[in-house]
Amino acid sequence: MIPSAYDLAPDSWAERLAEWGEKPFRAAQLVQWLYAPTASFAAMSNLPASLRDRLSAEFLDLDGTAKVEDEGMADVGTRKLLLRLHDGQCVETVVIPSRERRTVCVSSQVGCAFHCAFCASGAMGFTRNLSRGEIVAQALRAEIAIGRRPDNVVFMGIGEPFANYDEVVAAVRTLNAPNGLGIGARRITISTCGVVPGIQRLAGEGLQAELSVSLHAPTDAQRSELMPVNRRWPLEQLIATCAEYTRQTDRIVTFEYTLVRDFNDSPADARALVRLLRGLKCRVNLIPLNPTEHFPGQTPPLSTLRGFQAFLQDAHVNTTLRVSRGGGMDAACGQLRLRRLHG
Ligand code: SAH
Repeated sequence: MIPSAYDLAPDSWAERLAEWGEKPFRAAQLVQWLYAPTASFAAMSNLPASLRDRLSAEFLDLDGTAKVEDEGMADVGTRKLLLRLHDGQCVETVVIPSRERRTVCVSSQVGCAFHCAFCASGAMGFTRNLSRGEIVAQALRAEIAIGRRPDNVVFMGIGEPFANYDEVVAAVRTLNAPNGLGIGARRITISTCGVVPGIQRLAGEGLQAELSVSLHAPTDAQRSELMPVNRRWPLEQLIATCAEYTRQTDRIVTFEYTLVRDFNDSPADARALVRLLRGLKCRVNLIPLNPTEHFPGQTPPLSTLRGFQAFLQDAHVNTTLRVSRGGGMDAACGQLRLRRLHG
């Protein structure tokens, strides 16, 4: 398999080019082109032709890591890129530009093995992990599509980031590196369905990235019905791990809670959620269910959403709720939640 130039850490080019007998300053020149981003090695005009040829011979074409196959609107002002990978597989990247900031929602895997009941990605099944380069290339494609560098990156597209831990964390490092994309770590959010060992590992990484945990229910019975992962790592263990994460990193965890009508949206559910989160430094982001064809649940009425939020706020749980700007969204996953970053 031909590797992608984006699979390498920006800092590792110095060594690679030294092995090739290139002058030391070439690495910085190359890295600057790579994350400019630039369409091809041939366009790197200040590099010697011999070096450009060698790069072309050893690595995929720069747009070959993730080629834009199709581009559409997922919702008002939201762009969805369908990207074709070198082996023919496809992933989706969503770009949400607003006046103040531009957020890109990246995928971490082709498909997903976790089968959350309401999520369209689970229905696709799992095919493979994405590489560091394939994740980074999504942000670069988004930049080319909107003509500006994204300010925020959220791992809320297809896949479970912690089931592809090493490549995801490596991608975060490139996204964050000053000679990579230079996106502040606090503007990069990793969202997990509750893979406890991933949360534990991230705590020791020394990264300032944001952690989101998809909670979606206040009791094990309800959560296991929505999210099979809960049988492996039930709530008590998940919440204890989040508490330990905040203790170790001094970072606040965001809990995502998708509200499903008459399933997890009652005052009793709100009360149970407050009890579950008692004493934890966290915030809750409420997401109205985005109906999908494989799941019979419905979106609660706005009054229920507001009532649920008010209950949490009254109990001093910092809670946000963002409702969709418009219908007609063909979302593959939880894109409604992204309103929180832009509402
Ligand atoms: N696997 C990761 C990240 C990808 S999904 C995770 O589970 O966190 C991103 C978010 O969208 C998750 O919170 C997920 O539960 C949510 N989501 C998926 N499908 C949804 C739907 N139909 N409606 C609302 N939120 C959904």
